[in-house]
Amino acid sequence: MQILGELYSGKAKTVLETSDPDRLVLQFRDDTSAFDGEKREQLARKGMVNNLTNAFVMSHLERAGIATHFDRLLSDTDSVVKRLDMIPVECVVRNIAAGSICKRLGVEDGMDLAPPTFEFFLKNDALHDPMINEYHIRSFDWASDDEVAVMKRLSFEVNDVLKQLFLDAGILLVDFKLEFGRFGGGLMLGDEFTADGCRLWDQKTRERLDKDRFRQGLGGVVEAYEAVAARLGIELGFAGNAD
Ligand code: C5P
Repeated sequence: MQILGELYSGKAKTVLETSDPDRLVLQFRDDTSAFDGEKREQLARKGMVNNLTNAFVMSHLERAGIATHFDRLLSDTDSVVKRLDMIPVECVVRNIAAGSICKRLGVEDGMDLAPPTFEFFLKNDALHDPMINEYHIRSFDWASDDEVAVMKRLSFEVNDVLKQLFLDAGILLVDFKLEFGRFGGGLMLGDEFTADGCRLWDQKTRERLDKDRFRQGLGGVVEAYEAVAARLGIELGFAGNAD
């Protein structure tokens, strides 16, 4: 498989085409952004930590029976993934209230949400990713009713699996964002699962171990991501791939 040109460069990842029409390469960069790209910084090692964390989490989900686009690690910062037809919708699951839901609904930061709650957002930076509902998804034909049902079901399945994975490492999975795409007649999880797209709090101290450290200017961003990786048992340092 040969790597061809750049297909798309996002705020933290670059997507490359390959000689295989069904495979892309995701390149995790050190670029970090928040507030729709208003705050930007380069954080050394972040691309590597996120690539290796994403590979670990996606492989864990696959073992739990949840289909993902992850194929294999290519290097410290790059992974091969299946080429999905992405649905332009973000799926957010929340176990504890934090971030935008507190502002929108006036609920207290840190409140346990039982049952966990779910929200759809439109993936559109220019519009600041507005919250949308299932009727919008149907009327604008962003996804079918079946796909909406599958995205919700898979999001809650991911929550069940990852809540336990993080809890076993002494970490609370507060909330997270997922993106799905079509491949081979079905839907699978795409994009990434890293501390850039979720909230992770230390179970005992509730210390923030995710991108809120960057958003809030708390410092120690990559150190926190590395601490999460270490607690999950991820070895930071790519030893090569058998094939
Ligand atoms: O900002 P908000 O509280 O709605 O974010 C909920 C979760 O989704 C957080 O973990 C955040 O990091 C993630 N998110 C994301 N990308 C976005 C919006 C939210 O990864 N565009």
